[in-house]
Order: sequence, then C-alpha cells, then structure tokens
Amino acid sequence: MEPVKMIIGGEAVPAVNGAWETLIDPATEEGFVEVAQASAADVHRAVEAASAAFETWSRTSPAERSTLLLKLADALEAKAEALSAAEIQNAGKPQKLVVNGDVPFAIDNLRYFGTQARLVEGAGAAEYVGGYTSVLRREPVGVVAAIAPWNYPIMMAAWKIGPAVATGNTIVFKPAPQTPLTALQIAATALEVGFPPGVINVVTGGGPEVGEPLVSHPAVRLVSFTGSTATGRRIMELAARKIMRVHLELGGKAPLIVWSDADVEAAARGALVGAYMNTGQDCTAVTRILVERSQYDAFVDRFKALSLEVRVGSPQSPTTDVGPLISADQRQRVEGYVARARGAGLEPLIGGERPAGRGYYYPPTIFTGADPRSEIMQEEIFGPVVVIKAVDTEAEALAIANGVPYGLAASVWTRDVTRAWRFSQALQFGTVWVNDHLPLVSEMPHGGFKASGFGKDLSRLALEEYTVAKHIMFDLSGTAVKPWHPVAFGDF
Ligand code: NAD
Repeated sequence: MEPVKMIIGGEAVPAVNGAWETLIDPATEEGFVEVAQASAADVHRAVEAASAAFETWSRTSPAERSTLLLKLADALEAKAEALSAAEIQNAGKPQKLVVNGDVPFAIDNLRYFGTQARLVEGAGAAEYVGGYTSVLRREPVGVVAAIAPWNYPIMMAAWKIGPAVATGNTIVFKPAPQTPLTALQIAATALEVGFPPGVINVVTGGGPEVGEPLVSHPAVRLVSFTGSTATGRRIMELAARKIMRVHLELGGKAPLIVWSDADVEAAARGALVGAYMNTGQDCTAVTRILVERSQYDAFVDRFKALSLEVRVGSPQSPTTDVGPLISADQRQRVEGYVARARGAGLEPLIGGERPAGRGYYYPPTIFTGADPRSEIMQEEIFGPVVVIKAVDTEAEALAIANGVPYGLAASVWTRDVTRAWRFSQALQFGTVWVNDHLPLVSEMPHGGFKASGFGKDLSRLALEEYTVAKHIMFDLSGTAVKPWHPVAFGDF
C-alpha cells in the first residue's frame, strides 16, 4: 500500500520532518502501511490553513454547508466498501460490525448534520426591555481542534467533523495514532465533493507530539476531545492556560441492572452484546451486571452459556462476533486487570487467558463476587471483561451503579414501568436504556455525567457545542439620552 499522507490546506502532504510510522494490523500483528507522523510544525501549518479557510467558510450560507455535507455523505456511501475494508484492517473490527454498524451510522451522522446545518438559529427576537430589540445569534467558534480515540475511528471523525463544519467552523482533526485511515479518507472525499481547502484538515501522530501543540495553539478556539479521562484532564489543563472552550467525551463503567421481573433471556442477550461488542472497547460497554438475587443464578447460567458461544476470530470473517483488541499494549492492560483480580482472590468463571497464535485476541471473561470498591468494579478495563454481582434492594443497586467516578451510560431491565422510570431518573448517567443496551441515534445526544466528561456529541445539542451565543441589542429610540442614563449620570 502507498504511504498515507496527511490532509492539510486541501493537499495530501508528508510531515515536514519526513517522519513515517507503520500501522499494525491487530489481527496479524503485521505492519501494513506507513502513515505520516506530524510534529508541531505540521500542526502549525494545519491551524494556519484552518484559520485562513475560516474567513470565507464562516460566511457561507447554511444551505451551501448543508449541500456539501449531504454530498459528502453520498460520496462516502458510494465508497462504503473501501472505507469498511480500511476500518476492518486498521482497527481489527469484525466485518459485520463495520459494514452494518460503524460505516452506515457514520454516514447517517454526517447526513443528519447536513440537514441540521440549515436549522441553526438564535432564539427570540423581541423587546425584552422597552425601546430595545434583542437578537440572539449563534456564531461559529473558529478553528476547532478535535482529537479522537481508536475504538470507533470513522464514527468519531463523523461526530466531530459533521457538527463543526455544519455550523461554519473549520477543523483540524487528529485521529488516534493507531487508526487514522478512515478520517483521512473522509477529508480526501470532502475535497472531491467541493469542500474548500483548509476547512477539514487531518494531522496524524501521537498525543504529546501532535495533540498537545494542537490544543495549545493560540488560534484554536475549541477543543473537542474523545478519549480517556486521564488525557481529558491533561487537555483541560492545557485549555485552561489560554481559557478555551472544552468538550470532553471520556471513559465509562456502565452498569446493567436486571430486576427480578425482567425477561432473563432478553437481559442475558442484551448483556452479551453490550459487554463484548467491539471486543469490549466501547465507552458505553456493559462492565458491571447487577442482578436481583432471586434471578441471579438463572442469569449467570444463561449469560455464561451465551458467552461461550461468542465467536472470537478474524475480523475479515463474516461470522466473527469478536475480533482482536487494538494493540499489544491494550491487551497487556486488560491482562493486568485480570491478573490483579486473580491476585485479590477472584477466579474468572470463563476466559481470562489469551489464546495462542498471532493477533491481539482476548476471550470473553466473566468475574463474579467482586467487591463494588475493587479495581475491576471501579476502573474502565476496555476489553471483554465483565463482572456480575447479586443485589437485594433497589437502594443497593443504585448505590453500586452510581458509586463510580464515571457516568456515561447505564441500562435497567424490568417489566415494571414505574420501576423503569424510577431507575431512569435515579441513575447518574448521560444515557439510560430500558430493556436494551448500546443503541444510539443521530438525533439524540451522547455524553457523560461526572468524570465521563461534559458536552454532547450527536443531536442538536452538539451544534450548541460548536457555536457561541451572541446577544445583539438595538436601541429603537434614536435619542442621545436614553431613559435609563440618569441611573449613572444626570437626573430623572
Ligand atoms: P487516549 O486518551 O489514550 O487517546 C485519545 C486521543 O488523545 C488519541 O488521539 C491520542 O493520541 C490523544 N492524546 C493522548 N495524549 C494526549 C495529550 N497529552 N494531548 C493531546 N492529545 C492526546 O484514549 P484511547 O486509548 O485512544 O481511547 C480509549 C478511551 O476513549 C477510553 O477511555 C474510552 O472510554 C474513551 N472513549 C470515550 C467515548 C465517549 O464518547 N465518551 C467514546 C470512545 C472512547
């Protein structure tokens, strides 16, 4: 494969210093393509290009921006096969998931933001005080820096690029160093359909080398970050130095709560998909299953049986349910959590051993009996490792569910409608599902409470993240001395 360049100012360019890095296929552990590795000099070039493009892009009409985003979505749909192939090899994601999930969903997200581009409006134009008309405008923020993780590369690119450019911003997007291919393909396709040079730039490389100079660049006015809570904290520190808007989508530790009146088969299947999809590398993944004691044994038996049916294997196979983890580092991280849980006296019901052979594979792994304060019940593992615990009361279930630093997503399983509402209200998470776990839609927001961050991806709320409100107040009197002036000078 040809070495892959960055997209800066409408051109495919190598890094200024000529650095390249080899991408590794997680299923084979073999390098398959070279990608340009940016440094601060490339970041500077990209931000300059985005700043220059902002002058004209921010003045384009909503209709022009909408038309281009819709064309981009159509063009990506026409290339869906190539995009899927890149994503499968680059991220090690199963073909089923990429072809039926990630790629069509990312295209739908872009189409949604294309339609929303024409609906950006300020609320209210009225005389809130006599003699003045107030107007509220929502304006683009300027150059946006967006930084993404490796678990959903094409979706993350759509979630950041879509709302940023729909609202008249220009963007410098930094994909995760492991998974830059589909974001680069989106930027290249955007140029083909007529996006002006510099509106969508993609710089590739590592966090400290590329992410930090990008966030710190004085011309960047907003950083939209998805990734770990530790990196989010660092980004907030960097943003604080220049007082910059920050939008953070961080980690999670989702509970799935099964009540005694739930359909146990449905709950076990929901937990299965929720825990192992994308090899558990999902910020909303089911990680803690809390089951009312009377159903505990039935649930554990069924969940264990289903977990043993999961087909772990090559992402290229159409029947694979679970592919490899993203990298050797990520597998070591997952193994570390499992080893420390064993060290604390827990033995997994199933899994817990890496298979022989090549590829960063790890099997579905189930623990029971963990203390709610223990590491595997508190920290994000980001692998196919799940913990099941029996609970006796709603109060206990809620205390355990909410008793983590994270607050991204949760689900409750019950046939009792008042209980469903009670839990939905009391769970401190940005998304709560009732009788399912994981589905998202373009029209509804995704984002966290607590250490899972703030700000929303998707939906109209995302458009608010990428715009700034301006109040314009018109004097209607045309007089030199306004009625209120004597408050400060002269007599009433
Ligand atoms: P990460 O924080 O290590 O990296 C994310 C991105 O930040 C990468 O592009 C990386 O290069 C960059 N980065 C790293 N250090 C940086 C620094 N000092 N300055 C600027 N940029 C820096 O996360 P990851 O391992 O790629 O992804 C996994 C994490 O992402 C998990 O914690 C997961 O929960 C989270 N995630 C959250 C959501 C959400 O919507 N809340 C979605 C997907 C993933």
